[in-house]
Amino acid sequence: MKFKIVFFLFNIIGIYLCVSYWNVPNFWFLIIAYFLVFGAIVSLGSYFIGLNLFIHSEKKGEGVVFTFDDGPHPEFTPQILEILRKYNVKATFFVIGKEAKKHPELLKLIDEEGHVVGNHSYSHSNFIPFFRTKKLQRDFEKARGIIDGIIGKKANYIRPPFGATSPRYTKMLRRVNFVSIGWSFRSYDTKEKDVASLVSKTMAAIEKDNKAILLFHDTMEVTVKALPKILEKLKSNGTEIASLSASIKILPYE
Ligand SMILES: [Zn+2]
Repeated sequence: MKFKIVFFLFNIIGIYLCVSYWNVPNFWFLIIAYFLVFGAIVSLGSYFIGLNLFIHSEKKGEGVVFTFDDGPHPEFTPQILEILRKYNVKATFFVIGKEAKKHPELLKLIDEEGHVVGNHSYSHSNFIPFFRTKKLQRDFEKARGIIDGIIGKKANYIRPPFGATSPRYTKMLRRVNFVSIGWSFRSYDTKEKDVASLVSKTMAAIEKDNKAILLFHDTMEVTVKALPKILEKLKSNGTEIASLSASIKILPYE
């Protein structure tokens, strides 16, 4: 909807520019600048899922919500599960279909421990934001089929890889009953090397917003090391930790 408004406004401005300035010397400069600005807005909307420009993505919890992307990982997912068990925290794992296919026992474990399995596409391709609608839908449906084949549940929640969306996601979500889940705090744990820094920036984010949806990756050692420290602090200062489904009140499975 927002995208339609932006698109409409830009068309109006474009027509105005054409009508008013077509005979001035820098007409082409104006037209190029117009397309550059429009391109920049579309790119920003694609990259920052929180802007909700193309699709609406849930990004608010009822307490702090833990989500983990890109697994299951043979080494780190079991360790993350063990930590969550110790602190009695339920999280949501946005798994990559092709990884779930490789490690079905881990997917079962995530489910058996009471966590929710979400769909993070089958391929997690770098080009997924540019996929045509049909291909995009096939990719997510393939992952959903794999998840269903292993745990017998049809995942409703999806998370676009890289948080990059496009008008094709809008079309896909109109056709399929997926619920897009964003985040309000991106930990950048895939780039972070320092455990203390990951802990402190996560705690600072939670201090600002105690209903944040936190994005981590269960594929990173730094996350395995930081997680117990974060949970220890949250338990000791009494911060409420909520499950995603309870927060957004949308069932995780069909
Ligand atoms: Zn990812």
